[in-house]
Amino acid sequence: MTDVLKFGGTSVGSAERILDVARLVRTRGGDPCLVVVSAMAGVTDFLVGLRNSSKDKERAATESKLDELEDRHRATLDGLVLSEGEARSCAVAIDEEMRRCRELSLGISLLEEISPRTSDALLAIGELICSRLVAAALRASGGESVWIDPREILATNASYGAALADEKETAVRVALRVAPHLAAGRTVVTGGFVGAAPDGSTTTLGRGGSDYSAALFGAALHDVGRAVGRIEIWTDVDGILTADPRIVPAARLVPEVSYPEAAELAFFGAKVLHPATIRPAVARGIPVAVRNSFRPECPGTVVRQDAPGNGVRAVAMRRGVTALFVGSPRMLLAHGYAAKVFSVFEKHGVPVDVIATSEVSISITVDEKASLEGVVRDLSEFAEVSLLPHLAVISVVGKGLRSTAGVAVRVFGAVGDVNVVLISQGASDTNVTFVVDGNDAPEALRRLHREFFE
Ligand code: ASP
Ligand code: MG
Repeated sequence: MTDVLKFGGTSVGSAERILDVARLVRTRGGDPCLVVVSAMAGVTDFLVGLRNSSKDKERAATESKLDELEDRHRATLDGLVLSEGEARSCAVAIDEEMRRCRELSLGISLLEEISPRTSDALLAIGELICSRLVAAALRASGGESVWIDPREILATNASYGAALADEKETAVRVALRVAPHLAAGRTVVTGGFVGAAPDGSTTTLGRGGSDYSAALFGAALHDVGRAVGRIEIWTDVDGILTADPRIVPAARLVPEVSYPEAAELAFFGAKVLHPATIRPAVARGIPVAVRNSFRPECPGTVVRQDAPGNGVRAVAMRRGVTALFVGSPRMLLAHGYAAKVFSVFEKHGVPVDVIATSEVSISITVDEKASLEGVVRDLSEFAEVSLLPHLAVISVVGKGLRSTAGVAVRVFGAVGDVNVVLISQGASDTNVTFVVDGNDAPEALRRLHREFFE
């Protein structure tokens, strides 16, 4: 059974942390893993800054950024206290990547232009360096491990900045370049976020793309017939919680969630992981665990296609919402009325959120940052429109909620005297969603949490 372990930036943010990762991988036992590594914490942001200052011809700032980046990686390398040979080959790798970094920066300055292709070549450098350091630290800790350039295995299209994986080709390469090492008992280390276009040029999957890399590699191993145990996303939080602990101090860890529940919670701002990125793994039945590298004793949250158990899994809220009440002056909603209303939102590119309808009106919530002027103007041509700002959407997330008798009764019983502005007729069975005044939302959330979890 191969596990894929992905370590995010904070998990490899210093020499000490990289040594912790090496220890963690070495001591877990079992079959060798595929380790996918992000850039050190802050490095990708730093490269974005470097790219921009290069374009603006801020030469002094750019030079000092280049030096800082090189110093940080060199200092990290020193902190790993590797053998002489190992340290030398890492130093050569850092030199090479930094030379490339300087060339790209100079090119951007000369052209005063950032092409997406050049941008990707630059942003990839954090992962290319960091993954080499992790591989070296693993070897120093006594493990047999090899580093593989992610561009040799992750095949993508040429959509620089947000490349899409070619899953078939990636599987072919993983079979050729990764599987034999794993079979021979060697841990394989590679960089996340980075791939290669058909012409071999460097691509990136978009910010935060290392989770997607891990899922793609897990999927590729599965597709070429290796048994994949699970994918572990090692980060700096315990996992998915029953509520935001800043609002509900009694929040606790959710051990398992289904994929639709995780997606629902992510939509509500639980920034633990982006469900779309782990889709390739989940779709193949590979569980994805979120783990805290600062607290490896914590079991984390496991996301699967279908998690056991019915009932409420978590409660979530999203503030900063405005409701629009769109009424028909004729007091009855005519045929095609809803389509007409939604086409206005579409025309102005305003995404709609919670929707409720009655015989005489349609209520819609939108993000309060959306510009509503055009929407209101166009709607007013055929409807009566009123706005209610400063609202919050609250969602009770779980499985089989609508089919479980009494959930709604318990939800609204718990909410008690908090005024509910509207209740969604959401299409899924994974949530009961309603809208309250923004000021009432934290209290409503605490009451719900008490009802279902305390
Ligand atoms: N280093 C990249 C970023 O910061 C990718 C990742 O960490 O997932 O966006
Ligand atoms: Mg990162």
